[in-house]
Amino acid sequence: AVHIENVHKSFGKLEVLKGVSLTVEAGQVVAIIGRSGSGKSTLLRCINGLETIQSGRIEVVGHTVTYTDEKLRALRKDVGIVFQSYNLFPHLTVGQNIMLAPRITKGVPKEEARAQAEKVLAQVGLSEKFDVYPDNLSGGQQQRVAIARSLAMQPKVMLFDEVTSALDPELTGEVLLVMEELARGGMTMLLVTHEMNFARSVADFTVFMHQGKVWEMGPSEELFSHPKTPELAAFVKSTL
Ligand code: ATP
Ligand code: MG
Repeated sequence: AVHIENVHKSFGKLEVLKGVSLTVEAGQVVAIIGRSGSGKSTLLRCINGLETIQSGRIEVVGHTVTYTDEKLRALRKDVGIVFQSYNLFPHLTVGQNIMLAPRITKGVPKEEARAQAEKVLAQVGLSEKFDVYPDNLSGGQQQRVAIARSLAMQPKVMLFDEVTSALDPELTGEVLLVMEELARGGMTMLLVTHEMNFARSVADFTVFMHQGKVWEMGPSEELFSHPKTPELAAFVKSTL
């Protein structure tokens, strides 16, 4: 479903992705781990066209990532992305936040958008919050709404960039649980995470990025229990 071939990405003179290749099949969950600055977020952003690449090729559920408005719009209908910051609109209720994109970008009729919003809100366990404003929710709840908002677009692939990093430790669990359920439901997912236990137990494969390259990748359990490179061994040790 996602094919990344020999992608090179630079910011000015700084080469951040140095020939990254990676394939994620439909229904797979892939975790991306690595030190700060190794290029994890940049890679995710390239996948839904938020960054342009210098060379290589990215294909996502039949879309070759191409930087025209029309192609990007088509791509982003199929690829949801959730960041560390939830960016909910404070002046809209939870329900309105979720209905906005389907209404505007897909022209979904209001009643249908509402039904869909109720469905995805139930999926993240927040049915009772439809008419509440984001400010009245905890960080964990806001992040779950952000995930629901993304799901309302009915994406084929979901990208998550450290979605629990800004949360108090006691709130991370509820967000991880939502992601785990999504994974179980067969969603194709790429997630950048610092939650090593989550990567290990939920992701089919884990990718260790180091200095802009896929340094090592493999089935998650295998990768964590038997690192092949000293760099991964050191990284895993540093996270314990
Ligand atoms: P972290 O774990 O801290 O989130 P990361 O692995 O996600 O790190 P990236 O955000 O992908 O790392 O950044 C990789 C490198 O690219 C860093 O050196 C960063 O400073 C640089 N970089 C990222 N975005 C830009 C930008 N828009 N302009 C210039 N440099 C950038
Ligand atoms: Mg990052």
